[in-house]
Amino acid sequence: MKERFHAPGDFAMAYVVAHEVGHHVQHLLGTSDQVHQQRQQLSEKDGNKLSVMLELQADFYAGLWVHHADAMKGILEPGDIEEALTAASAIGDDKLQQQSGGSVVPDAFTHGTSEQRMYWFNKGYTTGTLEQGDTFREL
Ligand SMILES: [Zn+2]
Repeated sequence: MKERFHAPGDFAMAYVVAHEVGHHVQHLLGTSDQVHQQRQQLSEKDGNKLSVMLELQADFYAGLWVHHADAMKGILEPGDIEEALTAASAIGDDKLQQQSGGSVVPDAFTHGTSEQRMYWFNKGYTTGTLEQGDTFREL
C-alpha cells in the first residue's frame, strides 16, 4: 500500500481489509450475486456502472465498520481517518488510469473515482447506519 499507492499508515491497511470484509457482507446479503446476475443482461458500460456501485458500497461498509469499532473500542488515533481517505483516494479509478499513463475513461471505471470512494467511506463512518449505504439508488 505504502510503496505502490503512496498511502502510508496502519489505518490505510485497516481500510483495505475493511473494504474486503464489506464484500463479504455483500456476499452474505446476496447483493453480489444479484449484481453478477444483472451484469449478464447489461452492456459492458452499464455493467461497469453496477460494479462501481458494488465497490462503493464496500467502501461504505468499511466506513461503517470504523464508526462502530471506534464507538465500541476506541480504535481511532489522530490522523487515522485521513489515512483511510488517502488510501481510498489513491485507489480511485481515475487516479489509477492517470498513473498508468492513459487518459481517463469513465465508462471503463469499475471501482469509482477517488472522490466517490472518499465520499462513501466517509458517509459510512459519519452516519454509522446501514440504511445510508444504498449506493445503487444514489448513483
Ligand atoms: Zn472491492
